[in-house]
Amino acid sequence: MKKLSTQILPVFLIIGILTFSNNIFAQKTNSIPKSEQPRNIILLIGDGMGLAQFYAAMTASRDNLNISRCTHIALSRTFSADDYVTDSGAGGTAIACGIKTNNGMIGMLPDSTAVTSILHYARLNGKSTGVATTCDITHATPASFVTSVPSRKMEEDIALQFLYSGIDVFIGGGFDNFAMRKDGLMLTDSLEKFSYKVVTSIPEMMDVTSGKLAGLLYPKHPPKFNEGRGDMLSLATSKAIELLEDNKNGFFLMVEGSQIDWAGHDNDVNYMISETLDFDKAVGIALDYAEKNKETLVIVTADHETGGFANLEGNFSTGEANGKFTSDNHSGIPVPVFTFGPGAMYFEGLLENTDLFKLMFELYGFKK
Ligand code: MG
Ligand code: ZN
Repeated sequence: MKKLSTQILPVFLIIGILTFSNNIFAQKTNSIPKSEQPRNIILLIGDGMGLAQFYAAMTASRDNLNISRCTHIALSRTFSADDYVTDSGAGGTAIACGIKTNNGMIGMLPDSTAVTSILHYARLNGKSTGVATTCDITHATPASFVTSVPSRKMEEDIALQFLYSGIDVFIGGGFDNFAMRKDGLMLTDSLEKFSYKVVTSIPEMMDVTSGKLAGLLYPKHPPKFNEGRGDMLSLATSKAIELLEDNKNGFFLMVEGSQIDWAGHDNDVNYMISETLDFDKAVGIALDYAEKNKETLVIVTADHETGGFANLEGNFSTGEANGKFTSDNHSGIPVPVFTFGPGAMYFEGLLENTDLFKLMFELYGFKK
């Protein structure tokens, strides 16, 4: 008896450890019914949009936020490989590529090994791909989905990698990183040779109705929503969907509300609310499409919270919303994940930010 138990015990221990270390989603997604497999995913990232930013916008909207139309909610832990508080490079990379890396790194492990993002897996599986953002297109969040560089500061390298990435649609600011470069390369000419329509204004963008699109709408970062950017993100989102949905294999689109984060850094409540409401409008366009299309999973989340905001005053009838910031930087608090559409139910409980990649990968039905 004694001999038997000492032989069996380690086996049980090993099985136990393997089962335990297998993440919940790996077991849950073993047999995903067809009705829960999305053909398209629209991932919307509010940079710096924690629960407090979401709730301030919900209050300011007089309880009329599109994000509230999502049917499922989870929480996502955002710490990076080298810090309790992530930056947008490591935070974006975790969601895009499923790995925790060091702050400041893009699409790479801490040892600088490049990894493949969900956008590139989608492309390699025959889907169309796109990103749309309210900052430079070469900024950390969009870069995490398209490129791999050891430092987010390498924005001219990031622009060069966009050229060779095979992405179908990208819309944001940052024209100068393609056409006013230190190395003198005119990447806008190269993009045209690679059959992209290169546009530099919203009306020009709206005129494009098929094919590949490089929307470099501003020389550098786009302005604030209420200082001239207007509906740029919503228009970019609907244009990207229109162009990407031409592919019978489906698409992947990442949309970022970039400046919610900058408002948090500035401790500016009105800026924070107007950027979150603008982001929510893009969420509404994604949800309207998903409601009609029925094969589209919409995921709304953040890479981290910014400003350590606390909601201290508000009124759902008047839309008054106010509070206090505790920091001019990011905080470590988990962020919400809202989902809608086929596969939405798999986003539940306390997730790691890296689980978002893993769930998207499994739900698409991709194989490594
Ligand atoms: Mg960002
Ligand atoms: Zn930030």
